[in-house]
Amino acid sequence: MNRRSITAVLAGALLLVAGCGTSAAVPPTEVSAKVPLPAGATELTEPPAAPPAADCGDPTASLRPQGALPAPNALPPGSTMAKIKAKGKLVVGVDQNTFRFGYRDPFTGSVSGFDIDMAKAIAQAIFGTPSAVQLRILTSSQRIPALKAGDVDIVIRTMSINCERLKDVAFSSVYYEAGQRVLVKKASGFTGIGSLGGKRVCATDGSTSLRNIAGAPSKPVPVQVNDWTDCLVMLQQNQVDAVSTDDTILAGLAAQDPFTEMVGKPFYSEPYGMAMPKGQTDFVRFVNAVIERMRTDGSWKANYNRWLADLLGPAPAPPAAKYRD
Ligand code: GLU
Repeated sequence: MNRRSITAVLAGALLLVAGCGTSAAVPPTEVSAKVPLPAGATELTEPPAAPPAADCGDPTASLRPQGALPAPNALPPGSTMAKIKAKGKLVVGVDQNTFRFGYRDPFTGSVSGFDIDMAKAIAQAIFGTPSAVQLRILTSSQRIPALKAGDVDIVIRTMSINCERLKDVAFSSVYYEAGQRVLVKKASGFTGIGSLGGKRVCATDGSTSLRNIAGAPSKPVPVQVNDWTDCLVMLQQNQVDAVSTDDTILAGLAAQDPFTEMVGKPFYSEPYGMAMPKGQTDFVRFVNAVIERMRTDGSWKANYNRWLADLLGPAPAPPAAKYRD
């Protein structure tokens, strides 16, 4: 027996003796299981480029509605709206992970929220009934490809208007003004994006949020996932230090986990538009007419109060429309 094996035998004997005595002297040890990352979660060692400068004038200026909104039985023949009506359903790209905007209600099993009711309002204007909607669930990164492939007629999914996206799709006027903030665990000590230098900050692939994190002067490490709820799970599992995206989305995550809180001021403004295929100017004008009516007849406010007021405070005035022609 060499010296090492003698030591091992002695240690074993000592353990046996300890095992026979009182166990209270040995504190329990803690072994954490290696928690898997949500599917598709990636720490970006090559962060996406910071958001490009606006190079298209004011991207939120959309196309002016033309005249009064036509009744569902008087849609202009040959128009995009008439074609959608002939198909029988308005196919809308939405989210199912954003509590109160587009989320699967666990009690009813159906996808509901502010964005879903905006979709129903467009369907009401085309078909005369809000139920002529087919929802297609999309992640952030699937929004533009789905529109370009003709898989959806319109995307109503917490989607910010910007010059870059306007190269691929058309946008309605602004129907909601969000701002990018930060969600952290309570008592984490983080105070906003400026305090997260070198820390892992989560956002979805294909979102403006991810690029805004990458462009933050404090230099956080962007971590990309498929869905916003993946970010919440990663925060809960200590796999990221923060989530950063629109205050709307973060308020929904905070409502689902009382140990989290939003901190810091908004550091990017995120004006939401409904996205449509490029070139369908008749549809853009029509959708803008529907939004305009909702701004003035109280239904925008009713939609806000139904879904958002308890999370985001009393209803602001609906965003004013801007038009370029
Ligand atoms: N508003 C941001 C965007 O359009 C983030 C929201 C999201 O991706 O769902 O990219």
